Amino acid sequence: MKIMVSKHAGYCYGVKRAIRILDEVVASTANQDEKIYTLGPIIHNEQVTTLYKSKGVTIINAIEDMTGQNGLSNKIVIRSHGAPKSVYDQIQDINAEIFDATCPYVKKIQNTVSTHASIGYNIIIVGDGNHPEVVGINGWCDNQAIVVKSVDAAQKIKPMIGPVCVVAQTTFNINVWNEIVVVLKEKFENCVIHNTICLATNQRQTACRELASQVDLMIVIGGKHSSNTLKLASICKEIVNTIHIETKDDLDLSILSGNEVIGITAGASTPDWIIDSVILKIENEGEVFFDGKS
Ligand code: SF4
Repeated sequence: MKIMVSKHAGYCYGVKRAIRILDEVVASTANQDEKIYTLGPIIHNEQVTTLYKSKGVTIINAIEDMTGQNGLSNKIVIRSHGAPKSVYDQIQDINAEIFDATCPYVKKIQNTVSTHASIGYNIIIVGDGNHPEVVGINGWCDNQAIVVKSVDAAQKIKPMIGPVCVVAQTTFNINVWNEIVVVLKEKFENCVIHNTICLATNQRQTACRELASQVDLMIVIGGKHSSNTLKLASICKEIVNTIHIETKDDLDLSILSGNEVIGITAGASTPDWIIDSVILKIENEGEVFFDGKS
């Protein structure tokens, strides 16, 4: 049996960076009186958040949920999705320490909408209005942005006075984005378009598509609720027999029998140690040739 791992699998740049920042905060917090919080889970992976819980990290959904003392003893990590400007103001008001792990690509979008809104542009965000990244971006233009995620919604935007600035949620589908841009360009004469879709998503999907066409079975590793992992699984399923697991414990080895080549990919929030433990479990089963990253 041969194992091939996708060349783009697991943590993306922004998630790696966020985890490194949280690790540094944990390592520098020796004092029992100091409390560490993340605003929302640091990533969408239960095994990782459970690990950090055991290291004293508490997940909160709003700054008001902090249970520690107000003051310098509270450390708050902003995850890669970012947060609205009002959250930074709130944290400053209570004199807590901010560790900003907002992905630099998301930070750039926040800066774009903030700059354009300040000089009179109307802001349109192409994305899911409930996604924390979009909520965060909107919070840098006074929550005045119009958020659309379909061609239909774009067509329904009412006429606006003044220029328009358009940005995208980093994980938005490129094909739908292209269609929406055509509509917006037709609708608004003075319209600047910033394609802010992150390459990491596309790279993962392209690599898993290529790998799926070379193997007998694909194993997709990642959180059951991680949207980018679910997307990878659905792409693979269109090409080859595919299973989606969260950890090695979900892998029933009997499913591997009769398959010569096994492909492995993982969502952007799946750590290497979970990927490695799945590979190890398969390797321990018998004669396996590991081909590394395909
Ligand atoms: S997917 Fe892209 S934008 Fe999102 S955290 Fe990863 S690198 Fe940053």
